[in-house]
Amino acid sequence: MPASERCSKSSDATKKGAIEMETLNDNGLTMVENYYRDYGYRARALKQAGKRIMGYISAAAPVEIINAAGFTPVRIKGDPKEAVTKAYGSMETLVCPFLLNAFDLALKGKYDYLDGIVIPHTCDSVSRTYEVWKRNFPLPYYHFLNVPHLDGAPSLEFFTQILKTFIRSLEQFTGKEISKKNLDHAVLAYNELRQAMRDLYDLRKPDQPLISGIEMMKLLVAVKALPVDESTALIRQVSKEVKERKTSSSQKPLRVMIAGDQIDDTALVEIIEKTGAQVVMDDISVGSKLYYADIEVTHDPVDGIAEYYLEKVSLPTFYRDKGGSYDENLELRFGHLKRFISEFDVDAVILLVYKNCDPYGFEVPATTSYIESLGKPVFYVEDEYSSSSSSRLKTRIEAFIEMLTQERR
Ligand code: SF4
Repeated sequence: MPASERCSKSSDATKKGAIEMETLNDNGLTMVENYYRDYGYRARALKQAGKRIMGYISAAAPVEIINAAGFTPVRIKGDPKEAVTKAYGSMETLVCPFLLNAFDLALKGKYDYLDGIVIPHTCDSVSRTYEVWKRNFPLPYYHFLNVPHLDGAPSLEFFTQILKTFIRSLEQFTGKEISKKNLDHAVLAYNELRQAMRDLYDLRKPDQPLISGIEMMKLLVAVKALPVDESTALIRQVSKEVKERKTSSSQKPLRVMIAGDQIDDTALVEIIEKTGAQVVMDDISVGSKLYYADIEVTHDPVDGIAEYYLEKVSLPTFYRDKGGSYDENLELRFGHLKRFISEFDVDAVILLVYKNCDPYGFEVPATTSYIESLGKPVFYVEDEYSSSSSSRLKTRIEAFIEMLTQERR
């Protein structure tokens, strides 16, 4: 079934949405641009049409359950171009600048269309500010999801029960049961989205990638505020459009992978790609971390969802320890990086961590030494999630890429 056709039959689409998505033909990249520039635009339209929208923070929030409860999930993001002016009055200054910025946007009305927010227990910045969000940005629904930080059988059993509590809480809020059928449907819909995204990532593998890093970053962000069916259709449409591109240059660009925190803005990728290098892969929490594994279809769908978020989404707030040797544990934590570097023919990695971000910060030595052990250079930068810091970043990144380009000559 063509993407546009499937999209126009989307169960989530309102009349307005169906009209918009029918115009998707050959306009995928334009729509990505619009959704990226006006993040939440579609969700606001859905809200006006009577749909329910649930915000969430972090990659650890189970969007399948939110979807099964009848909400469109919207990932809370910040805007590095927006100066923080309101958040200091109620948020402690030691939280990471990403979260401070996102909270500031909420206080300025950017997320007023939300029916609620789900906050998983990931890092201290997120979990310790749950009450601050609730008190200063009151919404009809708030839920704190107690995500464990270790993998293994007891954690899995615990997390399965936590997800069931979350389901009951949503049922109480909406007054509607979340059936097994709803959950099964949501799992399949998100698995389809993941497959579509992996297919698109594959188009970055050729010597001349068919989609630029900037376009990819915009798409990764745009789909975080769309209903799942619309996201899948949009990704398929973009794949179709970029496959028609003809490559004009025979020169292979320096191929870069970006890694690190919630990078949800194009600033870093723009700096890299303006040098002539190309971002061909990522290991970030709005990107590949969410797309390179599927949820197993289990008899009780909650089992598969719990296993996915605990065992398959590779966030530094989960410590993977299967009791093997140090090297085996290292492979469990970082083995996917080796695969990405090889499959996407990565020449160098740029690792970006926000100031005050302990989980990613603590992993920097292990991550860099692992990547360097694969013979690839890593450039580590600490950032402040603000466009005012990007000129400093620019000079340093340009120097790093220039050095690598010289070595290749
Ligand atoms: S950037 Fe780091 S500190 Fe901030 S919310 Fe993400 S994991 Fe937590």
